[in-house]
Parts: sequence; structure tokens; C-alpha cells
Amino acid sequence: MTSYLFTGGRFLDPRHDRLRGGVDVLVEDGRVKEVSETPIRASAAQTIDLGGRTLMPGLVDAHVHVIASLVDVAANAALPSSLAALRAARIMNAMLMRGFTTVRDVGGADYGLVRAVDEGLIDGPRLVISGKALGQTGGHSDFRIRSDDRPSVFADRVGALGRLCDGVTEVRRAAREEIKAGAHFIKIMANGGVASPNDPIHALGFSREEISAVVEEARNAGTYVAAHLYTDEAIRRAVELGVHSLEHCNLIQTETAELAARAGAVAVPTLVAYEGLALEGSAFGLSAESQAKIDTVRRAGLESLDIMRRAGLPMAFGSDLLGQLQKYQSMEFAIRERVLPRNEIIASATTVAADLCMLGGQVGELSPGAHADLLVVDGDPYADLGVLQNDGARILAIMKDGRFHKNQLA
Ligand SMILES: [Zn+2]
Repeated sequence: MTSYLFTGGRFLDPRHDRLRGGVDVLVEDGRVKEVSETPIRASAAQTIDLGGRTLMPGLVDAHVHVIASLVDVAANAALPSSLAALRAARIMNAMLMRGFTTVRDVGGADYGLVRAVDEGLIDGPRLVISGKALGQTGGHSDFRIRSDDRPSVFADRVGALGRLCDGVTEVRRAAREEIKAGAHFIKIMANGGVASPNDPIHALGFSREEISAVVEEARNAGTYVAAHLYTDEAIRRAVELGVHSLEHCNLIQTETAELAARAGAVAVPTLVAYEGLALEGSAFGLSAESQAKIDTVRRAGLESLDIMRRAGLPMAFGSDLLGQLQKYQSMEFAIRERVLPRNEIIASATTVAADLCMLGGQVGELSPGAHADLLVVDGDPYADLGVLQNDGARILAIMKDGRFHKNQLA
């Protein structure tokens, strides 16, 4: 594999809050080989003069659904699996072209898609998956309308985000099946949701016993549970029961945020999901029931960022967009910028999200031994997060595992 020597640019280390000049980076065999403030000599490497542009780690989105090609998640679940998989490939490619070299899929993607990326069949980000999200009957994984009493919700199809399980025995089996099938962590629906028809936002998903059982299964497998959560009560319960990754958290209050921080949990706000749904959701088939639920969580979103920051609860970058709204992925940067400092937003989409993917040191930073997942951007993200928006227009080069997927540097 070609080795590359990047020189003459500015270097972004997410653990600092400003760019550094005079840093050379050598990439070899798909990995970062050397990072040095003194010039690196590597005669065999292809030298790339950055001309003052910024070299930074590839971005990590910790909350996506790559198989969601439709906003209407029930219709999505009913898609033929071949079609859902091919559409997922296109969605994943678009994510990579926005600069996301790693994504964590929290409901839907399977081991087949992970393999397809690894084998080079899909030009997409590396995938960290939960498999199907576990949900109770009538909860956020249950997309049947009230009068639909068929037992199946196409949970075996590629296009299904989740599966139903009820009772301690069933949730244990479901967690074990997902892990056996290649899930890196387990996702549960522990609160009502917007896109599902029958569960109000305040509904608690699963009993304490069921959640404890899933947490135990995940720990037995050396991993953790991520939970879909909005209300303060649901978040507090999840933290008490050992859930590590707290998705959304729009309605969190200070005491619970402090409790979560002490427990070592990580929050994954996904504010752009509600912006996207509010902007265009109904045009793409979002039901009236769902439309009515958006405002409850949308208005509290920005305040939740401030609450979590003050409590010292780490936040990872998440987008959670469905179907035709996936194009808004990078807008999450602009939304967070209204409340959070830029360096913290950059950390959320690099080091913090990498840790949540259990890939700390491997992605989200350019240090020796890490995957050569990197971006060259035209500008300073610490001064202007706009460089990461507009579908990667100002991202001149995108490299994953030492291979260019975009290169306009020449
Ligand atoms: Zn989601």
C-alpha cells in the first residue's frame, strides 16, 4: 500500500483547542506511522504538501441508522432486504463524503454491512453496530398501527430498525442473538419515541428487571447498553440500572446529568433529527401522530446541551436522521454551535465518539498506530465549523485506512 507524508499544513489534535503548525504526519500500511514536529524523512512515501490547509482526524457520528432510506420506518422495515442493503450502501457513501470515516449504527445495520465495508464492496465509513434495537411490545421498536396485530414487524429484514421482545427471558435471548450475530453493543428502546405510532414520549420502555438483564448480558459479552431516552425519569432509571450510552436526552435535568456523569455514562444528543423532521418530515411521510410529538423534544434540545455541559457529562456527536433527511447530518455542528464551544464539538465528533465506539486511540485522532482516517479541510474548524458542512464542499481530501476516497489536493 502507498505511504504518504503530509507536510506544510496545520494539524488538528482534538485534545487541544487550536491548530499547530509544523507537524509532519507519515501514513503507512493504512495506519498513522509517525507524527512529528521535526521534519520526517521517508523517501519511499508520496509527499503531500498541504499548502497551509488543515489535517484532522476523520469524523465519527455516534448515532446513525444507515438502513433507514425512508422517514416512514414501518415502510422501511417492509422493504425487500436486497433493496434496503443497496440503499444503505448509498447512504453510507454519502456519510463518508461528508467526512464521517466511522459511524455507530444504533438500530438496523447488520454484520453483512460491516463485512461489505471491510471487503471494499461499499465505499463507506467503518461501521460499529448494535444490530436490531430491542424494544417492548407497543414501544419505540413497534411500528405497527393499533389495529395491526400481526406478530412480526419484519424484524428479520435488513430495513427493520428494531425487534420486539418481552420479559426477562426474551430480552436475554434477543441480546444474546444480536451479540452472536455480530453486534458490538446492545441498543434498547427505554422510552417513548417520535417516529413510532403508539408510545407517548413519557412512556417508559421495559421493566427494571428487563433492562438489568440486558445490561448483564452486554457486560458478560464485554460491552455495554445504549438506550433511547428522552425524559429525566427514563434517563435516571437507565443510569441507575447501568446503561452506559444515553441517546437523545432532550429532557434531562441537572441532578440526573450529574448522576450520569458520576456513573461514567456518555450522552449522545441528536438535535438535528428534530430539525430535519420539523423541516421536511411530513413531506416524506412522517405521520401526524409523530409530527405532534416533535415539538416536545425539539424545544428542550438546546437547553439540554447546556445542562449536560455544566454537569460534566461527556457528549458524543449524533445525528439520528432517517431516510431523505440524512442529507442534514452535518447540520448538527451548526445547531450545537449555538450553545457549545467549538473545541468541545470537535472532540464530540472525534475522541469522545471514538471511545463510545470502543475505538479510542484507533480512530478520532491521528496518533501513531491509529487508523489513517483523516481529512484535509480548507480552513480552521476551531474558528469556523462551516468547513465541515455543506456535504463536504470544503473537505478537500478524505482518507480511510490509508486510502483516498476523495482527493482534490493536486
Ligand atoms: Zn435513533
